[in-house]
Amino acid sequence: MAKKVLIIDDSITQLSSLKIFFKRAGFDVETAQNGVEGFVKVYKTAPDLIISDVLMPHLGGFQLCRLLKSNPETKQIPIIMLTVLDKKLDKFWASQSGANRFIQKDSDFKNIIQIAEEICNEFPVSQRYKDLLKTFEFDEEGIIPQINKILDDALMKATITNKFRELTDYTGDDKLVASKIFKILSTIIEYEAACIYFHSPDYSTKKRLIFDTQNCELKDNVYLDVWRQVLPDCVEDFNIEAIDKSDDEKNENIIESADEFQSRKEFDFYYENNLIGKVCFYSTQNIEWNKLKFMPTAKSELDLYLRLKFLYVKTCYLSITDELTKLYTRRHLDSVIIQEFERAKRYGTIISVAMADIDNFKMINDTYGHTSGDYVLKEVSKIFMDTLRKTDFVYRYGGEEICILMPETCIQNVIMPLERIRKNIENKPFIHNNQQIKVTISVGATTYSKDMRLPSDLIEKADAALYKAKKTGKNKVVIENE
Ligand code: GH3
Ligand code: MG
Ligand code: MG
Repeated sequence: MAKKVLIIDDSITQLSSLKIFFKRAGFDVETAQNGVEGFVKVYKTAPDLIISDVLMPHLGGFQLCRLLKSNPETKQIPIIMLTVLDKKLDKFWASQSGANRFIQKDSDFKNIIQIAEEICNEFPVSQRYKDLLKTFEFDEEGIIPQINKILDDALMKATITNKFRELTDYTGDDKLVASKIFKILSTIIEYEAACIYFHSPDYSTKKRLIFDTQNCELKDNVYLDVWRQVLPDCVEDFNIEAIDKSDDEKNENIIESADEFQSRKEFDFYYENNLIGKVCFYSTQNIEWNKLKFMPTAKSELDLYLRLKFLYVKTCYLSITDELTKLYTRRHLDSVIIQEFERAKRYGTIISVAMADIDNFKMINDTYGHTSGDYVLKEVSKIFMDTLRKTDFVYRYGGEEICILMPETCIQNVIMPLERIRKNIENKPFIHNNQQIKVTISVGATTYSKDMRLPSDLIEKADAALYKAKKTGKNKVVIENE
């Protein structure tokens, strides 16, 4: 069956010569003299191909193209832009409008039939699609408002996309990021409650679910119920947070139970098959979430942003985390100790530092093998992390040396936890490859004093205390406090 081409051009001479050209080549030809007429004829004639001029009065070719390509009813029909414009920017804009090909009137004109045939083969429009197109009710009076609506939607979609892209300035502070995301989402999706979860590559951090509410407030039990639905596998160690509202945003409408929500939509986001985030919407109305106009845009933009954020956070995590022990790296210590040292010097805050070293570790390696040595190192590190406060920093300083930075901790309060760690290690049965390994550590600790000039003075003093512990029999904690 002959292919149908719709040619749109405001020049009558151009239109008639193209018409003859295409008829001779065996095409059915329809014509229109401007963008608006062209738009109407797309519906009336359901062509296999559209050839459109760019520079036309009222509705130009790029706009027409954008209009047809952003509209699901017409977007499958291929479009060739035909123009005298030859700038790179014109070609770029044609492709951005969704045109399948850009032909210059002078140079490529002789090949136009061949190109048209190629495009028809490459982007065939099914008979069903064409039949459906003809069935759409078409109010010719309302054509301009309809065109405006489609173009407005395209512009709005681009605006929403831009808003999401602006989020890339914020990657670190989860609550700030969440509030920015909810600010966009709440303008395009009618929800009463929504929550977001960002997965952290650092398994020691608590899981956080950050909530936003619109025109309502949630009772505490509602937060908990939502948590259980969204993250059922981790119901113990978590934080629930809510985006702060200003006084005039506070609301009398209290949601007492999660049962009041009539509908809910949950999106899971993955990177390389691993869950990296979740976003969930709740409403007391029965909402068909999938039919919301900008839901697909929101979903794909969130997907992109969450991947970016995850990779950023993971890169930061890897750069400061030791692969074997999961302790912080020495590089991280170098930056943190400078800040803490300056704080102590300027504001008189207290800071203590300890250096710990596994006793006779070389012998452990030699006796039980390197993998057993690695196992001991991991287990010892875990004991440090589990025993110390979340506000203390634990670093892998060197091979089997661990450095601990304890802000706001005076030397008296350092002795107890360090002694506890030392005893725990001494008493723990380290079993690897069916062999029990006896492990002890020596520790030296000190605290900041005014005569210290450099952050390295703290480390050196703790090191000197550690040296003393080693020299005087090992398996002990020595404090250097003068
Ligand atoms: P001391 O009681 O005086 O601390 O003696 P030591 O044997 O523990 O100390 P030494 O510094 O002589 O030896 C430390 C050993 O730790 C040597 C090194 O091969 C080993 N080591 C360093 N990093 C790793 C690691 O990642 N895994 C394993 N298995 N061994 C390591
Ligand atoms: Mg050692
Ligand atoms: Mg050592």
